[in-house]
Amino acid sequence: MTSNTPVSDQLFDRAQSLMPGGVNSPVRAFGSVGGTPKFMVSAKGAYLTDADGKEYVDLVCSWGPALLGHAHPAVLDAVHAAVDRGLSFGASTPDEANLAEIVKERVSAVERLRMVSTGTEATMTAVRLARGFTGRNLIIKFAGCYHGHLDGLLAAAGSGLATLALPGSAGVTAATAAETLVLPYNDLTAVEAAFAKHGNNIAAVITEAAPANMGVVTPGEGFNAGLSRITAEHGALLILDEVLTGFRTGYAGYWGLTGRQEGWAPDLLTFGKVIGGGMPTAALGGRADVMDYLAPVGPVYQAGTLSGNPVAMAAGVATLTHATPDVYAYVDARSLELSAALSSALDAEGVDHSIQRAGNLFSVAFGTSTHGVHNYDDAQGQQAYRYAPFFHSMLDSGVYLPPSVFEAWFLSAAHDDAAMNRIVDALPAAAKAAAA
Ligand code: PLP
Repeated sequence: MTSNTPVSDQLFDRAQSLMPGGVNSPVRAFGSVGGTPKFMVSAKGAYLTDADGKEYVDLVCSWGPALLGHAHPAVLDAVHAAVDRGLSFGASTPDEANLAEIVKERVSAVERLRMVSTGTEATMTAVRLARGFTGRNLIIKFAGCYHGHLDGLLAAAGSGLATLALPGSAGVTAATAAETLVLPYNDLTAVEAAFAKHGNNIAAVITEAAPANMGVVTPGEGFNAGLSRITAEHGALLILDEVLTGFRTGYAGYWGLTGRQEGWAPDLLTFGKVIGGGMPTAALGGRADVMDYLAPVGPVYQAGTLSGNPVAMAAGVATLTHATPDVYAYVDARSLELSAALSSALDAEGVDHSIQRAGNLFSVAFGTSTHGVHNYDDAQGQQAYRYAPFFHSMLDSGVYLPPSVFEAWFLSAAHDDAAMNRIVDALPAAAKAAAA
């Protein structure tokens, strides 16, 4: 791959001698698309600027958090004000309750909330809590769903593992892996069968509210509702992972768009990304009787030096306060506009594809027009090789896409006409590259 970003190239050389693969999170290494990762130095609105001074329209949005656009003035003001009061107190602060109140008001399935620092911590705690509450060991997860890098959920975990073509992670003991049942996504019959066999020992089913780590996959009609019904019938819990979808796909997350209307509620939900507006905050919440199993009220231990960090809380409160229904309507409209433009550019070059969609989240899959992508096998069976040339063509035209076909494209409220036009103008050349 050619690169005309010498400063990024030098930084990557240096980083590789200091950090494994030169990165602190694997997908950033451009492993599946090739070439040198760009080192970013600033971000504003819909744009990123790299160390060579090249500007990109950003379709990663920090992997989701930047719903309002980068460096939103109200969020920066709140963060600056919080920083001036001190970085961390190791004690409770008013904004923790303010953020929890906002979440509870928006997502009625949340009766209690615990702040943590990453999405991984949120799902890890939810799993421990489910085991503590039910007194059972087994967890069901779905192939292609990513819930962070906790040992027990790294089997067939999509995202970086899919990008690197790894089935799971070394370092996870057989004993730990044996406590996770991995089932095909969108297959309630497989869930019923697993419960028929192991029902008395299944603590929880964990699922992404809508999968977005094997590319985007739409939960089939009644799938999440079915999980809610089956878990309830067997005394197990349903953990709905909204780390990626929460406060991004809608005012009350993906559950707010779907499950609330369908009349079911998860027992626990996990949040991350948008809830911290770009600062390291995540959370788990749900039924009060389950959440109250957490220490100090209950016997399930969980703690964090920087949990509820005041600067992160300020960013979260400001972000959610400005993430109004109008913001979601705007991002929804931009998402439809961009996916339609992407599809026509690919059609014009005869590139077989499907647009995979869940609310305002979408991704493209290649060679899948006849059947679409409904599970991990479909996702892995696509013509993934078409993505690298597509990605690099877009990058050369100043559009920063996720460096993996197994990731969603993220838009923001700051993607205005100028930003959209730049993306749309870049699509024909990229489609041609994908066709080759
Ligand atoms: N759950 C989902 C659905 C995610 O997409 C992610 C991260 O992408 C996580 C959990 C883990 O979050 P974090 O990277 O903050 O640990």
